[in-house]
Amino acid sequence: MTFLLRRSGVVLSLALALHIATDADAQRGGRGGQRSASLLISDVTLIDGTGDPPRPHMSIFIDSGRFARVFGPGQAAPRADSTVNSAGLFAIPGLIDAHVHIGTQPWAREVAQLQHALREGITAVVDLASDTRETGDLARAVLAGEIQGPSVYYSALMAGPTFFKVDPRVQGSSVGYVLGTAPWMQAMTDTSNVVLAVARAKGTGAIAIKLYASMDSALVTRIIAEAHRQGMRTFAHATVFPAKPSDMVEAGVTMLVHAPYLAWEGSARSDSFTIRGQGDFTRVPPDAPAIMHLLTRMRALGTLFNPTVWVFSQGEPGSIATTVREPWLYAVTKEALDMGIPIVAGTDGLFASPYDSVPTLHEELRLLVTRGGLTPLQAITAATLNGARAIGIEKTYGTIEPGKTADLVLLEGNPADSITNTQRIRMVVKSGRIVRGP
Ligand SMILES: [Zn+2]
Repeated sequence: MTFLLRRSGVVLSLALALHIATDADAQRGGRGGQRSASLLISDVTLIDGTGDPPRPHMSIFIDSGRFARVFGPGQAAPRADSTVNSAGLFAIPGLIDAHVHIGTQPWAREVAQLQHALREGITAVVDLASDTRETGDLARAVLAGEIQGPSVYYSALMAGPTFFKVDPRVQGSSVGYVLGTAPWMQAMTDTSNVVLAVARAKGTGAIAIKLYASMDSALVTRIIAEAHRQGMRTFAHATVFPAKPSDMVEAGVTMLVHAPYLAWEGSARSDSFTIRGQGDFTRVPPDAPAIMHLLTRMRALGTLFNPTVWVFSQGEPGSIATTVREPWLYAVTKEALDMGIPIVAGTDGLFASPYDSVPTLHEELRLLVTRGGLTPLQAITAATLNGARAIGIEKTYGTIEPGKTADLVLLEGNPADSITNTQRIRMVVKSGRIVRGP
């Protein structure tokens, strides 16, 4: 297969081409909004992220950081600064891990991790609660071109006061603040000023409120309504204790996270969020009437579902987590899929240890296909278009369609045949610029 990078008809070495890009970047001081070079990816099999079947022999013209044209054979190609002949390759949109926790490690390690994730095809991440001082700075540094990494979106956590007394993780994420008072880690009660609390959270640059634990139905309903009124998204643990999944769904929550927590819909209300992973999976089977009704309401109200299957598939062999909970969470994920609820791919951990391994999202996709019943194309949509829907940027991101931000991954194997081909990466493009390969 040919794979050449051309500039004005002259074939350049890749090293030289990348050097030119680097110099150009330096001259304009990062992304700065100026026009980047145009790029033509020709004769590629296109998987656009919408769920449509692969289209062979397509060409993608990228200009000013966006997909400008997508066209088939026989149509005249626009003149491009560079052309990548991609015969035999497969293009998918850049992948979104819509459930990570970054901003918890020293800066240099976060930077190295993000850079590695980008090279492995992850072009956007959604942080579901960390220290927004760090996630915010990582987001800014990526935007400014100071570091190479996925675009970073992040949320601000709200939970009842009990959570802050019990869970030690929040201390490291709100250094310098009395626990529960940091704008990104707020303790909420019936008497909290919800309008002000949401405004403080929004001021951190967070796109969403993450509802975590120890809040009742009335409080989560008020927070969700106010967050949406102020233009934010809402992501909730599927059970917030005592608030149940249906309380968040009926309040219009954007996305429920963690499939096993749906089981609590079929049990008596509990205040004890620490038992959240230990639902009554035997007495509340995945097709219990309470679960089916919940899924019906999620479908009707457009709730997104972020099952995070990988993180719940790490149990000891023979344990209840493995023998009972795992089959339950895959079954409920399949039911949600069959009902038409949008599945959003997210891992709850951008990398397993060590952090320079393959990003966990690739394994999440494999599990969604092999055990969750998604087709490979549905899994790709879960990590592209549906991730963009979770963030609320689906009009400008998440598929390979004209007008959208040009983030894409070129693969050496067809991911529609085998989802593990998402790991066979030849090239990564971020905002119209080649950041890995070809
Ligand atoms: Zn999480």
